[in-house]
Amino acid sequence: MQDLQPDHRFNGVDTRLNEDLRLSALDELDLLDTPREEAFDRIARLIRYTFKVPVALISLMDAHRQWHKACIGLEAGEAERKDTFCRYPVASGEPLVIPDARLDPRVADNPHVTGPSGIRFYAGIPLKVGSGEVVGTLCAIDFAPREFSEEDLAALQDLAAITMREIELRQVAGTDALTDLLSRRAFKERALSAAKLATRHKQALSCLAIDIDHFKQINDTHGHAAGDAVLKAVATASSRALRTTDLIGRLGGEEFAALLPSTDRRGALEAAEKLRRAVQGVRVELGNVAIRATASVGVASLDPFSGDFDLLLAHADEAMYGAKRAGRNRTVVWQGAQTERRRVLKAGRIVFNNRHSTIDCTIRMLGEDGAGIDVWNSHDVPDRFTLTIGSQGSDRECKVTSRADKHIEVDFV
Ligand code: GH3
Ligand code: MG
Ligand code: MG
Repeated sequence: MQDLQPDHRFNGVDTRLNEDLRLSALDELDLLDTPREEAFDRIARLIRYTFKVPVALISLMDAHRQWHKACIGLEAGEAERKDTFCRYPVASGEPLVIPDARLDPRVADNPHVTGPSGIRFYAGIPLKVGSGEVVGTLCAIDFAPREFSEEDLAALQDLAAITMREIELRQVAGTDALTDLLSRRAFKERALSAAKLATRHKQALSCLAIDIDHFKQINDTHGHAAGDAVLKAVATASSRALRTTDLIGRLGGEEFAALLPSTDRRGALEAAEKLRRAVQGVRVELGNVAIRATASVGVASLDPFSGDFDLLLAHADEAMYGAKRAGRNRTVVWQGAQTERRRVLKAGRIVFNNRHSTIDCTIRMLGEDGAGIDVWNSHDVPDRFTLTIGSQGSDRECKVTSRADKHIEVDFV
């Protein structure tokens, strides 16, 4: 929680103005909350060996928290944004070196300095995408003060460049390395031209959004490697269930999408059910247990007048969330304009106590009637508050309808 005095001003730059663009660049990468990967762990290890620091991080900066794609020497996989050192390089777009945190007025009274973790040294390089937006940082941290030479800084910058290259390679890859399905970008590119073609020739076109049910539980119970095996098996079963002329891609994590040319809503519902049953039939043998999976599927068909593929995918996604709410392992067809919540990644502020208190948050789902919001600690959030959406912000009055540790659902009142 923080006072209404924004902490978003750094060197006189109001960073919230760029926050919308920054978050859409981050959303585009689709890296948040993905599992650890050797390529990034390796870079973190290199930071530690090269600079002999106890802590090395590759972080992505969400609207309300810093999330670690790679992390050595710290327990936490994430931290509340407002107290992080990394928010400075994220705000300024410039590297930041703090040789002794106790002597630096910006961070001397920071809880990570005064508290038990006792950070003394910090060097952070902003991770920038091609358009210049800063999505996160690469940093070296020590619990003792230290000097960092020009050469050290140059080496850390090189490692940041390697990290970005690694991220960009994932973006341009045409197929997803784990499942062999189309990558998010390749799927979208090909879907976009298919949508244009369908509009021009007045042909039907439908889209399926597919999300594995309770996949986190599979990972938590059986481990990531087993989770990966399930992803592969689901991908194979799904693509076998479809026609060879259909496109199927992994949009991220445990989410897939398929595009069905010359297929209307009825045909798409049939294909979706076939796919859903195929996923239900998947068995991944692990020792003497067989891991099973189910998926929720949303179906939408192209509006021949707009031909807008993004909208088609958004509708399929909405329908998929409808299938989740209806109990999972089922197919739901998008039924025209409804007050469903759509997936977004937007900065938000929870304002209460006569506007004296605010909490930064990340809006994940948004609809006419309410929102799904990630917060650092839901217990800090009152039952009623004003939500400012986006950095230029419109205000909505909210009532909390459900509360998990780090997530709340609200209705607009
Ligand atoms: P729901 O039924 O609501 O979809 O529940 P869920 O647990 O599937 O939902 P959620 O989206 O919260 O969790 C998805 C999990 O998938 C979180 C993430 O750690 C995991 N995950 C994402 N990508 C991968 C991957 O490549 N491999 C493995 N093993 N896990 C992944
Ligand atoms: Mg999901
Ligand atoms: Mg899921």
